[in-house]
Amino acid sequence: MAKKPRIYLYDSTLRDGAQTSTVNFSVKDKKEIALMLDKTGIDYIEGGWPGANPTDDEFFANLPKLKKSQFCAFGMTRRINSSAANDEGLNALINSGVKNICIVGKSWDFHLKNALNISDAENIAMITESIAYINKKQREAFFDAEHFFDGYKDNPKFALNCVKKAYEAGARWVILCDTNGGTLPSEIKQIVSQVIKIIPGENIGIHCHNDTGNAVANSLAAIEAGARQIQGTINGLGERCGNADLISLIATLILKMNYDVGIKENELKNLTKLSHFLDETLNKERNKFAPYIGEYAFAHKGGLHVSAINKNPKCYEHIKPEIVGNKRKIMISDQSGRANIISRLKEIGLNLNDQLKATQISDLVNKVKDQEAKGYAYDSADASFEILAKKSLNLIPNFFDLISFKVIDERSLDNKGNIEAMAEAIIKIRIGKKIIMSVAEGNGPVNALDKALRKALSRRYPMLKKIKLTDYKVRILTPSDATEAVTRVQIESCDLENNKWSTIGVSTNIINASYLALYDSITYKLIKHL
Ligand SMILES: [Zn+2]
Repeated sequence: MAKKPRIYLYDSTLRDGAQTSTVNFSVKDKKEIALMLDKTGIDYIEGGWPGANPTDDEFFANLPKLKKSQFCAFGMTRRINSSAANDEGLNALINSGVKNICIVGKSWDFHLKNALNISDAENIAMITESIAYINKKQREAFFDAEHFFDGYKDNPKFALNCVKKAYEAGARWVILCDTNGGTLPSEIKQIVSQVIKIIPGENIGIHCHNDTGNAVANSLAAIEAGARQIQGTINGLGERCGNADLISLIATLILKMNYDVGIKENELKNLTKLSHFLDETLNKERNKFAPYIGEYAFAHKGGLHVSAINKNPKCYEHIKPEIVGNKRKIMISDQSGRANIISRLKEIGLNLNDQLKATQISDLVNKVKDQEAKGYAYDSADASFEILAKKSLNLIPNFFDLISFKVIDERSLDNKGNIEAMAEAIIKIRIGKKIIMSVAEGNGPVNALDKALRKALSRRYPMLKKIKLTDYKVRILTPSDATEAVTRVQIESCDLENNKWSTIGVSTNIINASYLALYDSITYKLIKHL
């Protein structure tokens, strides 16, 4: 079957997604997310709003190099009664250095009368002069027509005129926004069909919010009506109920509708990773029920379902889970766990038949299951998985034994009345026959413990001086087999060669959970030097 036309993907996770309550991206987060989006093959990445806050300024001043995606800077049309060339906001966008600039403007006359108090003519001038200025500076202009669908429903002539003038002024893309998220798919399809009569579909984009749970359906309706760019966010992040979820959209456009989105079918397996990566960055619980990439998207529990699935998975699965990087989960059999573990062992260079016996695999499957029941999650802690696997196969020597540690946490007032918090850790370990004790201070108990442990080890293992902890995340959970809550600590470490690895520790005690994650982090570095 011939591919349908090219649909361009525009990700606004770093801007619209950052407006989600509870979300706060650092510059480092933004860089890492942008690189993941690039790897996935997204066309445009909205990096943020230069000139609006220090994080976005710093981000745009140090943009990571991308292979495929292009950055887009977001902002708004020039201010009322000023000139585009002298507009501080517009110039901040131009000076951000990126080629694509997306500006938002009004297309609902209700806003003109009730919020801005400006004339139709001034609104059109704000749109067209800003777009002309962006073009004059040799940038591509994207126009986000805010509240376009509400505007169209109230006053179609006015709304259509706003987008027509934006297109005529030279906008590469005119994006129709369902800003309040209240429009339904049938309305979107009908309204976009009207816009297509005055602006070519190749220049029309769609931006939907999920306030009726229809953001994905609305975006697809606009595509069916002829729009060619979709804006959305990873995991549907965004204000209120979120934006259209790009993960569902990408998979659906390719697998169900046969559109060309610039991503090959065999690259779709990155989607699950991308979704998990964003959750981990935000320290957010995964949505296990998410379409395509959720843990339960291909989970089968009922006996009847499971026996049918064993005969032919098509009985209860709309696609093969591997296509999107997910996996089948059969709750009453360990088959899926086993296959998963075999494939992860392959990733770390251990092959069945070769070094591994079937019984060893079974032991490891059971071990992983026990650990997961306690609250461990190895999907996001590759290094801890590798250590668990190699330990159970006796492939790791005993680098050191912990004899004991003690952490003292202190909080006091200094003579100026400021609160001072500090911690001290004392640790005793054994390397071979030698017992080593060390003490270190830190700004918190984990920092002190990390310093003391590495101090004790660094004479024998000098390479440990070169690692640093780059991230530390704590989550409280209640695992399925426990009655009391436990703490899961995840640590990200990095060495001088910029290798990164992630480790995990689980315990009812936060310091002990941190120690377990630190232990794995250090052990991982040591096995890489074997
Ligand atoms: Zn939005």
